[in-house]
Amino acid sequence: MALSRGLRWCQRIFSWVPVVIITAVVLWSYYAYVFELCLFTLSNPLEKVCYLFAFHVCFAMFIWTYWKSIFTLPSQPSKKFHLSYTDKEKYENEERPEAQKQILNDIAKKLPVYTRAASKAVRFCDWCQVIKPDRCHHCSVCEMCVLKMDHHCPWVNNCIGFSNYKFFLLFLAYSMLYCIYVASTVLQYFIKYWVGEIHNDRAKFHVLFLLFVALMFFVSLMFLFGYHCWLVSKNRSTLEAFTSPVFLRGPDRNGFDLGALKNLEQVFGKEKKYWFLPIFTSLGDGHFFPMRTQSESSSPLLSTEHQWEDGRSDEETNPLQIEDQAVRIEMET
Ligand SMILES: [Zn+2]
Ligand SMILES: [Zn+2]
Repeated sequence: MALSRGLRWCQRIFSWVPVVIITAVVLWSYYAYVFELCLFTLSNPLEKVCYLFAFHVCFAMFIWTYWKSIFTLPSQPSKKFHLSYTDKEKYENEERPEAQKQILNDIAKKLPVYTRAASKAVRFCDWCQVIKPDRCHHCSVCEMCVLKMDHHCPWVNNCIGFSNYKFFLLFLAYSMLYCIYVASTVLQYFIKYWVGEIHNDRAKFHVLFLLFVALMFFVSLMFLFGYHCWLVSKNRSTLEAFTSPVFLRGPDRNGFDLGALKNLEQVFGKEKKYWFLPIFTSLGDGHFFPMRTQSESSSPLLSTEHQWEDGRSDEETNPLQIEDQAVRIEMET
Protein backbone atom coordinates (compact mmCIF):
# COMPACT_ATOMS: atom_id res chain seq x y z
CA MET A 1 0.00 0.00 0.00
CA ALA A 2 2.74 2.41 1.08
CA LEU A 3 4.81 1.31 -1.91
CA SER A 4 2.02 2.01 -4.41
CA ARG A 5 1.41 5.39 -2.77
CA GLY A 6 5.14 6.13 -3.02
CA LEU A 7 5.14 5.10 -6.67
CA ARG A 8 2.16 7.32 -7.38
CA TRP A 9 3.96 10.28 -5.80
CA CYS A 10 7.05 9.56 -7.89
CA GLN A 11 4.85 9.36 -10.99
CA ARG A 12 3.23 12.69 -10.11
CA ILE A 13 6.58 14.41 -9.61
CA PHE A 14 8.00 12.82 -12.76
CA SER A 15 4.99 14.01 -14.79
CA TRP A 16 6.15 17.62 -14.24
CA VAL A 17 9.50 16.97 -15.98
CA PRO A 18 8.29 17.98 -19.51
CA VAL A 19 6.79 21.23 -18.08
CA VAL A 20 10.08 21.98 -16.29
CA ILE A 21 12.02 21.36 -19.54
CA ILE A 22 9.73 23.69 -21.54
CA THR A 23 9.94 26.34 -18.79
CA ALA A 24 13.74 26.11 -18.71
CA VAL A 25 13.98 26.49 -22.51
CA VAL A 26 11.59 29.47 -22.41
CA LEU A 27 13.50 31.18 -19.59
CA TRP A 28 16.77 30.67 -21.44
CA SER A 29 15.21 32.05 -24.66
CA TYR A 30 14.05 35.11 -22.68
CA TYR A 31 17.56 35.70 -21.34
CA ALA A 32 19.19 35.08 -24.74
CA TYR A 33 16.82 37.40 -26.63
CA VAL A 34 16.45 40.25 -24.13
CA PHE A 35 19.98 40.38 -22.76
CA GLU A 36 22.34 38.79 -25.28
CA LEU A 37 20.61 40.02 -28.43
CA CYS A 38 18.70 43.21 -27.59
CA LEU A 39 20.83 44.69 -24.80
CA PHE A 40 24.34 43.43 -25.68
CA THR A 41 24.23 43.11 -29.51
CA LEU A 42 21.79 45.70 -30.90
CA SER A 43 23.23 49.21 -31.12
CA ASN A 44 20.31 51.24 -32.53
CA PRO A 45 18.12 52.39 -29.56
CA LEU A 46 14.91 52.57 -31.61
CA GLU A 47 15.44 49.06 -32.92
CA LYS A 48 16.09 47.90 -29.35
CA VAL A 49 12.80 49.37 -28.08
CA CYS A 50 10.73 47.99 -31.00
CA TYR A 51 12.27 44.52 -30.71
CA LEU A 52 11.80 44.43 -26.95
CA PHE A 53 8.20 45.67 -27.10
CA ALA A 54 7.07 43.16 -29.75
CA PHE A 55 8.97 40.38 -27.98
CA HIS A 56 7.26 41.04 -24.65
CA VAL A 57 3.80 41.05 -26.25
CA CYS A 58 4.47 37.61 -27.82
CA PHE A 59 6.09 36.37 -24.62
CA ALA A 60 3.20 37.52 -22.40
CA MET A 61 0.55 35.88 -24.61
CA PHE A 62 2.59 32.70 -24.77
CA ILE A 63 3.02 32.53 -20.98
CA TRP A 64 -0.63 33.40 -20.33
CA THR A 65 -1.94 30.64 -22.62
CA TYR A 66 0.61 28.12 -21.33
CA TRP A 67 -0.35 28.92 -17.74
CA LYS A 68 -4.07 28.52 -18.50
CA SER A 69 -3.47 25.21 -20.32
CA ILE A 70 -1.54 23.82 -17.36
CA PHE A 71 -3.67 25.07 -14.48
CA THR A 72 -7.23 24.91 -15.81
CA LEU A 73 -8.73 21.86 -14.17
CA PRO A 74 -10.44 19.40 -16.51
CA SER A 75 -14.26 19.45 -16.17
CA GLN A 76 -15.86 16.34 -14.78
CA PRO A 77 -19.44 15.09 -15.28
CA SER A 78 -21.97 16.78 -12.99
CA LYS A 79 -23.71 14.98 -10.15
CA LYS A 80 -26.66 14.12 -12.40
CA PHE A 81 -24.48 11.61 -14.23
CA HIS A 82 -23.37 9.84 -11.06
CA LEU A 83 -25.39 6.86 -9.88
CA SER A 84 -27.55 7.60 -6.88
CA TYR A 85 -27.03 5.47 -3.79
CA THR A 86 -30.06 3.27 -4.58
CA ASP A 87 -29.16 2.91 -8.27
CA LYS A 88 -25.61 2.00 -7.30
CA GLU A 89 -26.84 -0.65 -4.89
CA LYS A 90 -29.23 -2.03 -7.48
CA TYR A 91 -26.47 -2.08 -10.10
CA GLU A 92 -23.93 -3.75 -7.84
CA ASN A 93 -26.33 -6.37 -6.54
CA GLU A 94 -27.30 -7.37 -10.04
CA GLU A 95 -25.05 -10.08 -11.42
CA ARG A 96 -26.54 -10.58 -14.90
CA PRO A 97 -24.80 -8.26 -17.39
CA GLU A 98 -28.00 -7.83 -19.43
CA ALA A 99 -29.93 -6.69 -16.37
CA GLN A 100 -27.09 -4.32 -15.44
CA LYS A 101 -27.25 -2.89 -18.96
CA GLN A 102 -30.98 -2.35 -18.55
CA ILE A 103 -30.49 -0.53 -15.22
CA LEU A 104 -28.03 1.87 -16.90
CA ASN A 105 -30.40 2.30 -19.85
CA ASP A 106 -33.23 3.29 -17.52
CA ILE A 107 -31.03 5.85 -15.75
CA ALA A 108 -29.69 7.22 -19.07
CA LYS A 109 -33.25 7.90 -20.24
CA LYS A 110 -33.33 10.83 -17.82
CA LEU A 111 -30.08 12.22 -19.22
CA PRO A 112 -29.13 13.93 -22.50
CA VAL A 113 -26.93 11.01 -23.57
CA TYR A 114 -26.94 10.10 -27.27
CA THR A 115 -23.70 8.23 -27.81
CA ARG A 116 -23.16 4.60 -26.94
CA ALA A 117 -20.32 2.12 -26.54
CA ALA A 118 -19.46 -0.01 -29.58
CA SER A 119 -21.70 -2.72 -28.09
CA LYS A 120 -24.59 -0.18 -28.14
CA ALA A 121 -24.62 -0.20 -24.31
CA VAL A 122 -24.82 3.04 -22.33
CA ARG A 123 -21.25 4.26 -21.73
CA PHE A 124 -20.48 3.75 -18.07
CA CYS A 125 -17.23 4.38 -16.21
CA ASP A 126 -16.59 1.68 -13.61
CA TRP A 127 -13.82 3.71 -11.94
CA CYS A 128 -15.83 6.88 -11.48
CA GLN A 129 -19.23 5.13 -11.27
CA VAL A 130 -20.64 7.63 -13.71
CA ILE A 131 -22.68 7.49 -16.90
CA LYS A 132 -20.40 9.15 -19.43
CA PRO A 133 -21.91 12.21 -21.11
CA ASP A 134 -21.42 12.40 -24.91
CA ARG A 135 -17.74 12.96 -25.83
CA CYS A 136 -16.61 12.32 -22.23
CA HIS A 137 -13.80 9.82 -21.64
CA HIS A 138 -11.92 8.45 -18.67
CA CYS A 139 -8.30 9.58 -18.45
CA SER A 140 -6.13 6.92 -16.87
CA VAL A 141 -3.40 9.46 -16.03
CA CYS A 142 -5.72 11.93 -14.28
CA GLU A 143 -7.85 9.03 -12.97
CA MET A 144 -11.10 10.83 -13.73
CA CYS A 145 -13.73 11.20 -16.42
CA VAL A 146 -13.08 14.35 -18.45
CA LEU A 147 -15.78 16.20 -20.41
CA LYS A 148 -15.11 16.31 -24.18
CA MET A 149 -11.71 14.81 -23.57
CA ASP A 150 -9.27 15.50 -26.37
CA HIS A 151 -6.07 13.95 -25.08
CA HIS A 152 -3.77 13.95 -22.07
CA CYS A 153 -0.88 16.29 -22.85
CA PRO A 154 2.43 15.60 -21.06
CA TRP A 155 3.81 19.02 -22.16
CA VAL A 156 1.24 20.82 -20.04
CA ASN A 157 0.81 17.90 -17.60
CA ASN A 158 -2.95 18.25 -17.91
CA CYS A 159 -5.91 16.73 -19.64
CA ILE A 160 -7.02 18.72 -22.64
CA GLY A 161 -10.79 18.74 -22.79
CA PHE A 162 -13.89 20.92 -22.71
CA SER A 163 -12.57 23.33 -20.05
CA ASN A 164 -9.21 24.12 -21.68
CA TYR A 165 -9.25 23.11 -25.35
CA LYS A 166 -9.47 26.75 -26.45
CA PHE A 167 -6.50 27.61 -24.19
CA PHE A 168 -4.51 24.72 -25.61
CA LEU A 169 -5.15 25.84 -29.22
CA LEU A 170 -4.16 29.41 -28.34
CA PHE A 171 -1.08 28.08 -26.58
CA LEU A 172 -0.04 26.31 -29.80
CA ALA A 173 -0.77 29.44 -31.86
CA TYR A 174 1.13 31.82 -29.56
CA SER A 175 4.04 29.37 -29.23
CA MET A 176 4.34 29.44 -33.02
CA LEU A 177 4.10 33.23 -33.06
CA TYR A 178 6.79 33.44 -30.36
CA CYS A 179 9.09 31.08 -32.28
CA ILE A 180 8.61 32.74 -35.66
CA TYR A 181 9.07 36.22 -34.18
CA VAL A 182 12.30 35.19 -32.46
CA ALA A 183 13.60 33.35 -35.55
CA SER A 184 12.82 36.17 -37.98
CA THR A 185 14.39 38.92 -35.86
CA VAL A 186 17.43 36.85 -34.91
CA LEU A 187 18.16 35.76 -38.50
CA GLN A 188 19.98 38.92 -39.62
CA TYR A 189 22.24 38.84 -36.54
CA PHE A 190 22.82 35.15 -37.08
CA ILE A 191 24.13 36.02 -40.58
CA LYS A 192 26.23 38.91 -39.21
CA TYR A 193 27.85 36.61 -36.65
CA TRP A 194 28.27 33.89 -39.26
CA VAL A 195 30.18 36.13 -41.71
CA GLY A 196 32.18 37.72 -38.89
CA GLU A 197 30.66 41.20 -39.23
CA ILE A 198 30.18 41.42 -35.45
CA HIS A 199 32.23 39.75 -32.74
CA ASN A 200 31.01 38.63 -29.35
CA ASP A 201 31.57 34.95 -28.69
CA ARG A 202 29.10 34.59 -25.83
CA ALA A 203 26.26 36.44 -27.63
CA LYS A 204 27.09 34.54 -30.82
CA PHE A 205 26.52 31.22 -29.07
CA HIS A 206 23.09 32.32 -27.73
CA VAL A 207 21.98 33.87 -31.03
CA LEU A 208 22.91 30.76 -33.03
CA PHE A 209 21.03 28.50 -30.65
CA LEU A 210 18.04 30.85 -30.50
CA LEU A 211 17.56 30.50 -34.23
CA PHE A 212 17.91 26.72 -34.28
CA VAL A 213 15.68 26.11 -31.26
CA ALA A 214 12.99 28.56 -32.47
CA LEU A 215 12.89 26.97 -35.93
CA MET A 216 12.87 23.45 -34.54
CA PHE A 217 9.91 24.20 -32.23
CA PHE A 218 8.11 26.13 -34.95
CA VAL A 219 8.23 23.23 -37.40
CA SER A 220 7.05 20.63 -34.88
CA LEU A 221 4.28 22.92 -33.59
CA MET A 222 3.15 23.69 -37.12
CA PHE A 223 2.14 20.06 -37.72
CA LEU A 224 0.35 19.75 -34.39
CA PHE A 225 -1.43 23.07 -34.80
CA GLY A 226 -2.42 22.25 -38.38
CA TYR A 227 -3.88 18.94 -37.23
CA HIS A 228 -5.89 20.62 -34.46
CA CYS A 229 -7.18 23.30 -36.87
CA TRP A 230 -8.49 20.50 -39.05
CA LEU A 231 -10.08 18.81 -36.00
CA VAL A 232 -11.78 22.08 -34.96
CA SER A 233 -13.11 22.60 -38.49
CA LYS A 234 -14.70 19.12 -38.25
CA ASN A 235 -15.74 19.51 -34.59
CA ARG A 236 -13.86 16.34 -33.73
CA SER A 237 -11.66 15.59 -30.74
CA THR A 238 -8.36 13.74 -31.14
CA LEU A 239 -9.97 10.65 -29.57
CA GLU A 240 -12.91 10.89 -32.00
CA ALA A 241 -10.50 11.15 -34.93
CA PHE A 242 -9.21 7.69 -33.95
CA THR A 243 -12.51 6.13 -32.87
CA SER A 244 -15.75 7.49 -34.30
CA PRO A 245 -18.45 8.25 -31.75
CA VAL A 246 -21.25 5.66 -31.84
CA PHE A 247 -24.80 7.02 -31.94
CA LEU A 248 -28.01 5.05 -31.67
CA ARG A 249 -28.06 4.89 -35.46
CA GLY A 250 -24.44 3.64 -35.53
CA PRO A 251 -20.92 5.13 -35.67
CA ASP A 252 -20.61 8.53 -37.30
CA ARG A 253 -17.29 10.37 -37.34
CA ASN A 254 -19.06 13.56 -38.47
CA GLY A 255 -21.78 13.26 -35.85
CA PHE A 256 -20.97 16.63 -34.25
CA ASP A 257 -19.99 18.44 -37.46
CA LEU A 258 -22.21 21.54 -37.79
CA GLY A 259 -20.25 23.27 -40.57
CA ALA A 260 -16.89 25.06 -40.26
CA LEU A 261 -18.05 28.36 -38.71
CA LYS A 262 -20.41 26.78 -36.18
CA ASN A 263 -17.71 24.25 -35.31
CA LEU A 264 -15.30 27.09 -34.66
CA GLU A 265 -17.89 28.82 -32.49
CA GLN A 266 -18.32 25.67 -30.43
CA VAL A 267 -14.73 26.08 -29.21
CA PHE A 268 -14.16 29.85 -29.43
CA GLY A 269 -17.65 31.21 -28.76
CA LYS A 270 -19.71 33.69 -30.72
CA GLU A 271 -17.91 36.89 -29.71
CA LYS A 272 -14.94 37.31 -32.01
CA LYS A 273 -13.21 39.82 -29.69
CA TYR A 274 -12.52 36.96 -27.24
CA TRP A 275 -11.29 34.47 -29.81
CA PHE A 276 -7.63 35.35 -29.33
CA LEU A 277 -7.67 35.66 -25.56
CA PRO A 278 -7.36 32.71 -23.17
CA ILE A 279 -10.75 33.44 -21.60
CA PHE A 280 -13.29 30.62 -21.51
CA THR A 281 -15.91 31.25 -24.21
CA SER A 282 -16.70 27.74 -25.52
CA LEU A 283 -20.41 27.08 -26.03
CA GLY A 284 -22.42 24.79 -23.80
CA ASP A 285 -21.63 23.16 -20.50
CA GLY A 286 -19.67 20.16 -21.78
CA HIS A 287 -22.42 17.63 -21.06
CA PHE A 288 -24.40 17.97 -24.26
CA PHE A 289 -23.34 18.92 -27.79
CA PRO A 290 -25.45 19.86 -30.81
CA MET A 291 -25.47 17.14 -33.44
CA ARG A 292 -25.36 17.15 -37.21
CA THR A 293 -28.43 15.05 -37.95
CA GLN A 294 -31.55 14.55 -36.01
CA SER A 295 -32.15 10.92 -36.80
CA GLU A 296 -31.83 10.52 -33.05
CA SER A 297 -35.24 12.15 -32.83
CA SER A 298 -36.77 8.77 -33.57
CA SER A 299 -35.32 7.74 -30.24
CA PRO A 300 -37.49 8.09 -27.17
CA LEU A 301 -34.40 9.52 -25.49
CA LEU A 302 -34.71 12.85 -27.28
CA SER A 303 -37.89 13.74 -25.48
CA THR A 304 -36.21 13.07 -22.16
CA GLU A 305 -33.76 15.91 -22.71
CA HIS A 306 -36.49 18.37 -21.80
CA GLN A 307 -37.18 16.46 -18.61
CA TRP A 308 -33.51 16.80 -17.80
CA GLU A 309 -33.54 20.49 -18.60
CA ASP A 310 -36.70 21.01 -16.56
CA GLY A 311 -35.17 19.21 -13.64
CA ARG A 312 -32.47 21.85 -13.32
CA SER A 313 -32.73 24.86 -11.11
CA ASP A 314 -32.65 28.34 -12.64
CA GLU A 315 -29.13 28.98 -11.37
CA GLU A 316 -27.91 25.86 -13.11
CA THR A 317 -29.51 26.62 -16.46
CA ASN A 318 -26.84 27.73 -18.87
CA PRO A 319 -28.06 30.23 -21.48
CA LEU A 320 -25.50 28.83 -23.88
CA GLN A 321 -27.20 25.45 -23.60
CA ILE A 322 -30.42 27.05 -24.81
CA GLU A 323 -28.45 28.54 -27.67
CA ASP A 324 -27.16 25.06 -28.47
CA GLN A 325 -30.69 23.76 -28.67
CA ALA A 326 -31.55 26.59 -31.04
CA VAL A 327 -28.71 25.40 -33.27
CA ARG A 328 -30.16 21.91 -33.21
CA ILE A 329 -33.60 23.13 -34.18
CA GLU A 330 -32.02 25.21 -36.93
CA MET A 331 -30.17 22.16 -38.20
CA GLU A 332 -33.34 20.14 -38.06
CA THR A 333 -35.28 22.50 -40.34
ZN1 LIG B 1 -14.01 7.71 -15.22
ZN1 LIG C 1 -5.56 13.29 -18.17
